[in-house]
Amino acid sequence: MVLAELGGRISRAIQQMSDATIIDEKVLNECLNEITRALLSADVQFQLVRDMQKNIKAIVNLEDLAAGHNKRKIIQRAIFNELCKMLDPGKPSFTPKKGKPSIIMFVGLQGSGKTTTCTKYAYYHQKKGWKPALVCADTFRAGAFDQLKQNATKAKIPFYGSYTESDPVKIAVEGVETFKKENCDLIIVDTSGRHKQEASLFEEMRQVSEATKPDLVIFVMDSSIGQAAFDQAQAFKQSVPVGAVIVTKMDGHAKGGGALSAVAATKSPVIFIGTGEHMDEFEVFDVKPFVSRLLG
Ligand code: GDP
Repeated sequence: MVLAELGGRISRAIQQMSDATIIDEKVLNECLNEITRALLSADVQFQLVRDMQKNIKAIVNLEDLAAGHNKRKIIQRAIFNELCKMLDPGKPSFTPKKGKPSIIMFVGLQGSGKTTTCTKYAYYHQKKGWKPALVCADTFRAGAFDQLKQNATKAKIPFYGSYTESDPVKIAVEGVETFKKENCDLIIVDTSGRHKQEASLFEEMRQVSEATKPDLVIFVMDSSIGQAAFDQAQAFKQSVPVGAVIVTKMDGHAKGGGALSAVAATKSPVIFIGTGEHMDEFEVFDVKPFVSRLLG
């Protein structure tokens, strides 16, 4: 189910409930069950949905509903707040400061959109007057360096990588040192991925992170991976200190649920979303406007 459909289904459930002559526990339960089904089919993790249902029931006072006062508003507000809570881990991510060198490490599976997102992130900041640089520490995928080089050249962003060196840790460290000397204030380290979660990948991420000591580790996730999001995000979080999430491919047939699960698994906020293949198809992510739009 695509994101807009999810919002529509939730709104309809609320509408249906508020149309009822008497709103008792049964009617409220029916509404919440429909919302639960909608969230599950948008790939939100079961436990998150169950907790949300429980929280809403605890917030919504049935007596207020029975009195007929703004029943729709009361429930709508509770749902809105719960969805916001799911997307807001309660603490902001590390925010780099212009003019002060920050090391940002990107992690994610192959195909998640990591390399594309590194360039988008660099380009976004460059337009705002930063001095970003890209380091390709992906020695696993043939062609990774060429791809980064091509993107970086297009955006006129300095890059570092090697065609011959096979040790990603060495490249990452050398790249970071090089750009520190050049006074770059946003040193972005792109890392290897794998087609699936593998111990060797997580060990490599741990080593790169330990050697480069990033100020922020960003987990990049494809919005279409569905129910796998929670496990995947959690596996990365267990290896490296993930501090933020970027969800890619929110254009197309994106399901919103994966983002909610990734936030829950990493206890980190979504900071940007990718909305296309081009460098400028990249948006700052704000929880409240996102949920408002979702609920229509
Ligand atoms: P990596 O293996 O994780 O580095 O992934 P890539 O950066 O190579 O991206 C994989 C594919 O996804 C490429 O074809 C990208 O153009 C595409 N891609 C990345 N981000 C987005 C996005 O936000 N929207 C769309 N539609 N495609 C994207």
